[in-house]
Amino acid sequence: MKADRGNNKQGKIFVISGPSGSGKTTLLARLIKDRKAGKLLKKSRSVTTRPKRSGEKEGKDYSFVNSQEFKCLLKEKKILEWTRYLGYYYGTPREPLEKQLLDGKSIGLCLDLNGARIIKKLYPARVVTIFIIPPSLHALKERIRGRCRGTDQKEVRERIFLARKELKSSGEFDYRILNQSLPEAIKELKNIFWKETAG
Ligand code: 5GP
Repeated sequence: MKADRGNNKQGKIFVISGPSGSGKTTLLARLIKDRKAGKLLKKSRSVTTRPKRSGEKEGKDYSFVNSQEFKCLLKEKKILEWTRYLGYYYGTPREPLEKQLLDGKSIGLCLDLNGARIIKKLYPARVVTIFIIPPSLHALKERIRGRCRGTDQKEVRERIFLARKELKSSGEFDYRILNQSLPEAIKELKNIFWKETAG
């Protein structure tokens, strides 16, 4: 593990976590869409063995690979951190993250709890962790059901079970954003970004 000296010329790592369906991907996308923030920040694109959902695009939402390919990437040390979520693998590619930091820019990652903890350990001086809280468990269940339409009910139940567990961990994060109103949540995320980027 490389020492993280927190050199000011390097950017920050914004780790956004929260239960499935809490809106973390949308929030990060909206932050990056901001003209000024978008010049300093890009999204990390994870690699996953999960099947593509309808509407998802290869290379945009994820790089979709099979288990064999994922294992090769791990063996070649091209994955910085990885997790197993409901039987599928998800991993953060190492090179784009390191390059972005060396260019003095920041990177945003949407990760599960395991990933957030690992990245915090790897880069303690430059990680900012943000937890997205859904407005209610009922709203979250609805979003998970909507997202998993067409997939099996077992996955829906497992996502809801994991969501309850993840919600208990929000205290570990540097910031918490309640995603009750999307414009308000975006505003809060932008404020955090600029506060941490200026520092
Ligand atoms: P989904 O299947 O809903 O796209 O993702 C499942 C969970 O895995 C979400 O919490 C998502 O943020 C997380 N995730 C996506 N990519 C990665 C990754 O590269 N590493 C880790 N640790 N979690 C990831």
